[in-house]
Amino acid sequence: MIPFPPETGPILIAGATPVALGVPQSPTDILVDAQGKVQATGQGLSAPDGARRIDAAGLFISPGWVDLHAHVWYGGTDISIRPALCGLERGVTTIVDAGSAGEANFHGFREYVIDPARERIKAFLNVGSIGLVACNRVSELIDMRSIDLDRTIAVVEANRDVIIGIKVRASGVIVGAWGITPVKIAKKLARVLKLPMMVHVGEPPPLYDEVLDLLDPGDVVTHCFNGKAGGSIVEDDMLFALAERCAGEGIRLDVGHGGASFSFRTAEIAIQRGLLPFSISTDLHNRSIDSPVWDMGTTMSKLLAVGMPFEKVIEASTLAPMSVIGMATEGLLKPGARAEFTVFSRDPSDLSIRDSMGHEAVLRELLVPRWAVMGDLVVKASPYRPHETTAGPNGCPHCGWAPGR
Ligand SMILES: [Zn+2]
Repeated sequence: MIPFPPETGPILIAGATPVALGVPQSPTDILVDAQGKVQATGQGLSAPDGARRIDAAGLFISPGWVDLHAHVWYGGTDISIRPALCGLERGVTTIVDAGSAGEANFHGFREYVIDPARERIKAFLNVGSIGLVACNRVSELIDMRSIDLDRTIAVVEANRDVIIGIKVRASGVIVGAWGITPVKIAKKLARVLKLPMMVHVGEPPPLYDEVLDLLDPGDVVTHCFNGKAGGSIVEDDMLFALAERCAGEGIRLDVGHGGASFSFRTAEIAIQRGLLPFSISTDLHNRSIDSPVWDMGTTMSKLLAVGMPFEKVIEASTLAPMSVIGMATEGLLKPGARAEFTVFSRDPSDLSIRDSMGHEAVLRELLVPRWAVMGDLVVKASPYRPHETTAGPNGCPHCGWAPGR
């Protein structure tokens, strides 16, 4: 009897049902060699000596989950969380930071967070030089003194392996009277740099409509199903038609749940009308994690709950965001491909949960991460559960612990 399971050597993932992996959805064994590459797939594979075994009968396996919108510049911004909190242990192998850093502080983000992380971290660079240092207190887009075109170009050129696009937050609380102008400047920069742009839409100005008019195929609109007055796509038929047309042309609608930007009602109506999001992402940060977002699996489950089909939910959390950041989306089970998978379950549930508007819904199914496999690394995964703040008069307001419980 070995006192601890081995941490190196081959991995046998036994009996999981593949989703979004380009093969039939029937239980399969996947053997990963000691270098972290797929060696064989099939039924009844035997584990070589010293192999680590993941017994995945009854579970699903997909490409590693990719969260296209999160904030992980921990220590460099007041809003970010550590990547470990929303990464492998939540089933997420790739985290895309959505503009926490601007050109002025990207080097620290890279040195202290991106390079040491176990997860793959990519970033949209904020067009505002300071990024989200003091998020929503000191705006990163006040006037043209907030943007430095030369330095932004230089930082992108020096970090093209990590920076995969330009981020701009286009809502009134950030841009104020500057309106649509910073979006136009960000678009110009993105074109010059030949990168996609991610635009956050919310309360105007500028209008969601104006933003969509500026975008090109490949650009990303995050917070696509927000329920804000003047920002929701289901309250204005012309805006809905525009969003539909843009999605058809290749503009990517991204969920970006966040603390204020996902409405069950908006999502449900849009999906009923046939407008599905391109990608599902959390917008996790320290003001959204405990309420209402929690984690990637819970966010995916919310989209299931409003009528998005299971396979589409998985594709929108894997292949779709992978394509945005330039990852290969085919041949992921071919011998020699680097192993990068999330093993998860689809469990019956009666979990009652809120959207960003405070509306409650019951999730009848929950997607629960069980394992993340990243090359030769195997990490046991589990959902994030928020700290209870309703422990009663004798309980701790932070952790919910109360005597005698
Ligand atoms: Zn965000």
